[in-house]
Amino acid sequence: MKKIGLIGLCILLVACSSPKVDEAKDNPKKEAKDTVVSFFAVGDNLLHDTINYEAKEYGKESGRNYDYRPFYKNFKKQIQEADVSFINQETLVGGEELGISGYPNFNSPKEVATDIATTGFDLVNLASNHSLDRGSEGIANALKYFDEQKELTTAGINDSAERQSQIATFKKEGITFSFLAYTYGTNGILPANSYEINYFGDERIAQDVAKAKELSDVVIVSAHWGDENSFALNDMQKHYAQVFADAGVDVVIGTHPHVVQPNTWVQGQDGHTTYVIYSLGNFLGGMLDTKNIVGSYATFDVIKDAKTKEIRVANEDVKPLVIDFHGNQANILDERYDYQVMPLTKDYDKIAAEHVLNGYEGQVVSYAELMRMWTYGTKREI
Ligand SMILES: [Zn+2]
Repeated sequence: MKKIGLIGLCILLVACSSPKVDEAKDNPKKEAKDTVVSFFAVGDNLLHDTINYEAKEYGKESGRNYDYRPFYKNFKKQIQEADVSFINQETLVGGEELGISGYPNFNSPKEVATDIATTGFDLVNLASNHSLDRGSEGIANALKYFDEQKELTTAGINDSAERQSQIATFKKEGITFSFLAYTYGTNGILPANSYEINYFGDERIAQDVAKAKELSDVVIVSAHWGDENSFALNDMQKHYAQVFADAGVDVVIGTHPHVVQPNTWVQGQDGHTTYVIYSLGNFLGGMLDTKNIVGSYATFDVIKDAKTKEIRVANEDVKPLVIDFHGNQANILDERYDYQVMPLTKDYDKIAAEHVLNGYEGQVVSYAELMRMWTYGTKREI
């Protein structure tokens, strides 16, 4: 239509403008609401041989080489419902071409990256002590597989100095977030190029956080730290919790000890407070001690005040989870199966006795015993 008559044009203008007028009349005192971004976080995705075997079996059913999605099904709803969900990818995802392996030099199939994304995770830590288990090739492959998952934000490993200097950011509800990641070490394996892995360092962290604060409203840090199998914090954790607080980080998500540790608020030098979860423990793994089958899942909100525009972290909570699996105690190194991770509730007593670790080397798997360990780890004095 080339011409619009004068009357027609008037009708169009009135038609288009009137709803706005009505809206203003109907809601003269409508108050703006705070913006809330909800978070969900779990710890180590530690893929032992027996988990990979089982993923291969699941893959046969779904027509893929490996399928890890069934292990996470009990948490899928919560992972998807949160605005942002975090996981620590403990084992390198270097793909089959570099040889799949479990402990001690781990390498996991590329399907892990796909399945983390389709399960609904958004943020993935790639800086772990296992990141260099396949050297530079492993780093390059892991980045390739994770970069293919466009909805994921990752941090911690790099294939160039330029990539290391770039801060990963993402946006939710109009709030811009930065995501930084560091590991204490790489099991004595040195990177061929220093940029390949982000190690902790006072100066590096100060620089990265300053840059992140220029680019974003909120800074989230993944900290791979602590002593394996220790409920107690080490000096390095205490030191860097303070470094992060002084730099103005908003939330620190800690992983690596394979057991749970406390969460707390740490006050920085300018009065800024940082929410620090020291260790979430394992999310999936086949370790043989009962303290390693108890993890935490954390939830918290990042809230932007509608009036002041200030941002705060609130509604923080941690709850227990259990990694359930069966097997043959007489051949436990090779025969562990039926892996699944689930919230630890009283209902777990109905199936706890069937856990392969129940009775293994005198251990007890029950709701009460697992809760005792979870409480011991998360509620202890810092
Ligand atoms: Zn680790």
